[in-house]
Amino acid sequence: MQRRHALGAAVTGLAGVTAAGCATTTPDAVPFTVAQPSVPIAGSSEVFPVRRIYCIGRNYAAHAREMGSDPTREPPFFFQKPSDAVQFVAPGVLTPHPYPPLTRNYHYELELVAALHKGGRKVPVEKALELVYGYAVGLDMTRRDLQRGMGDQKKPWEIGKSFDRSAPIGAIHRVAQVGHFTQGSITLKVNGVVKQDANLNQMIWSVAEQIAQLSQAFELMPGDIIFSGTPENVGPVVPGDLMEGAIAGLPGMSVKVVAPA
Ligand code: MN
Repeated sequence: MQRRHALGAAVTGLAGVTAAGCATTTPDAVPFTVAQPSVPIAGSSEVFPVRRIYCIGRNYAAHAREMGSDPTREPPFFFQKPSDAVQFVAPGVLTPHPYPPLTRNYHYELELVAALHKGGRKVPVEKALELVYGYAVGLDMTRRDLQRGMGDQKKPWEIGKSFDRSAPIGAIHRVAQVGHFTQGSITLKVNGVVKQDANLNQMIWSVAEQIAQLSQAFELMPGDIIFSGTPENVGPVVPGDLMEGAIAGLPGMSVKVVAPA
């Protein structure tokens, strides 16, 4: 809700348009309300409002190779999920996650998530981490068959990545409490068996570099979160499977895949 721009419209109660072309409305002028997606902040009664979800692709060399690309030659690329794709997974709480429609090859990708409280354009790498409010553990859930099928047809693979509840995420931990994450283990188990086991220092593009790169293409804003890429050994889950994700320095996440909603 852009209250800064809504004041003028509040006088008349009519929708307005800013100089930038953004439609504005007063709260009492909308015919229904839309929830602001958010993620709880650890050790706080506050929640982190999510504006956009950015994700980097193929950011660990071994994962890039398993996806069929050459990690030495490719610049970073990004995609988005809708902000309401976040599904909060509370620490220590086994959280049900419905198997999504249309897929027969539903994959996990465990990732470190950076949450921004400041924005910017063309942010230098040296200043990039100043934008970070905190970190969380997250899953970039992927309908791999749809992603690949659309890619093969040279169509956008959004349907494989950007669907309801495709972004399970743990509580956001403030930098003041946990610092920044440039190294440390990142692991995912399925039904107690280790599937992904890597180190954050194996990222091709660090979180700071990702922020710098993203800010060349978009104006970053408070509330943006960035999924920083998954290590190798992504793979499928089916209803009944238990996923346990862990990043050193953050509480783990436990997600149970359940029958379609
Ligand atoms: Mn990913």
